[in-house]
Amino acid sequence: MFKGILIEKDEAGYRAALGEIDDDRLPEGDVTVRVSHSTLNYKDALAITGKGPVVRRFPMVPGVDLVGTVEHSSHSDFEKGDGVILNGWGVGETHWGGLAQMARVQGDWLVPLRGLFTPSQAMAIGTAGYTAMLCVLALEAHGVRPEQGEILVTGAAGGVGSVATAVLSRLGYSVVAVSGRPEESEYLKGLGAVEILDRAEFAAPGKPLGKERWAGAVDVVGSHTLANVCATTRYRGVVTACGLAGGMDFPATVAPFILRGVTLVGIDSVMCPRLERLKAWRRLASDLDVSKLESISREVGLTEVLPLAERMLNGEVRGRVVVDVN
Ligand code: NDP
Repeated sequence: MFKGILIEKDEAGYRAALGEIDDDRLPEGDVTVRVSHSTLNYKDALAITGKGPVVRRFPMVPGVDLVGTVEHSSHSDFEKGDGVILNGWGVGETHWGGLAQMARVQGDWLVPLRGLFTPSQAMAIGTAGYTAMLCVLALEAHGVRPEQGEILVTGAAGGVGSVATAVLSRLGYSVVAVSGRPEESEYLKGLGAVEILDRAEFAAPGKPLGKERWAGAVDVVGSHTLANVCATTRYRGVVTACGLAGGMDFPATVAPFILRGVTLVGIDSVMCPRLERLKAWRRLASDLDVSKLESISREVGLTEVLPLAERMLNGEVRGRVVVDVN
C-alpha cells in the first residue's frame, strides 16, 4: 500500500481524497518510481477541484509532475536507483500522476535527474518552471535579444511567471512584471523585475493597436490580457502564450500580426518532444539562479494539497508549491 490522492467520479459525484492505495492498482508502464516529491500546478488545482476538465479517466491520481527514484525498470535507459523527473505526457490527466508515493510510467517520458538539481529543487521548478524555460527558448529561437528592449511577463507572481522573471533577468533581459498583487512587488523585484505593472491595465478590452513597448512577452493569462499584450508589442516582437489563468478566449484583432509583424508562439509543455525537454532542463541548470528557488517555492505535505488547490485557483498562492509525498 502507498499513500496518494485519488480523484473519483461516479454516482456519488466528483471528489478527491487522500488515502491508502494498493500497489496492484498502479497502471501499466515499464518503469516504477518511488516518488519523493510532486508539485501543485494550476492544472492540478483544476483537476482536484473538478473546476476544469483536466481528468479524462477515473479513478485518477493527480499531479502532472514527479521526481523520484526508479524502483523497477524494464526500459533500457533506466535502472533501479536512478533519479528521474517527469513532467506532463498526460500524467495526472489520463495516466496516474505524481501526488502519491508510487508511480508507474513509460520510461520514454522520464528525464534523468543526474545531479542537475536536488529532488526538491526539481519540483520547485516543475512543469511551471520548465514551461517558463520553453517560453524563453522560443523567444530566443525567434531572435529576441536582451538589447532589443523590455520583456513583459504576465501572472508574474505565479509559478510560470516567477521562473520566467528570474531566468530572463539573469540572462540580461529587462523584465517588466504584470501582477494583480501589489504586495508581491518586493518579491518580484527580488527575482529581477525592473518594473511592476497592475494586472488591471491589461484585463479590460483594449484597442487593436497600442503604443509599441515590448520586444517580447511571456503570457500566462490569455483573454484580454493576451490581446492587449499583442497590441502593445513592438514591430516584429514575439509573444509566447502558454496559459489561461484569465480565460481561454482570445478577443484580439489581426492588426498586431499584419501591421507590426508580431509573432505569437504557442507553448505546450505536455507533449513537447523529448529533445526539447532535455534542452529546457539543461538550460534551467545553467540559467536559473537556484538560490532564487527558496523565495519562489514552499514545501507542503500531501495533507495540505486539497485546501491549497482552492486557494491556487483564487490566485492566492505565490510562486511554486512543492509537495513532499512522504
Ligand atoms: P499559478 O496559479 O501559479 O499562476 C497564475 C498567475 O496568473 C497568478 O499567480 C496570478 O498572478 C495570475 N492570475 C490568476 N488569475 C488571473 C486573472 N483572472 N487575471 C489575470 N491574471 C490572473 O499558475 P501557473 O504559473 O502554474 O500556470 C499559469 C498558467 O499557465 C495556467 O493557466 C496554466 O494552466 C498554464 N500552464 C500551461 C502550460 C502549458 O504547457 N502550456 C504548462 C504550465 C502552466 P499575479 O497574482 O501576479 O497577477
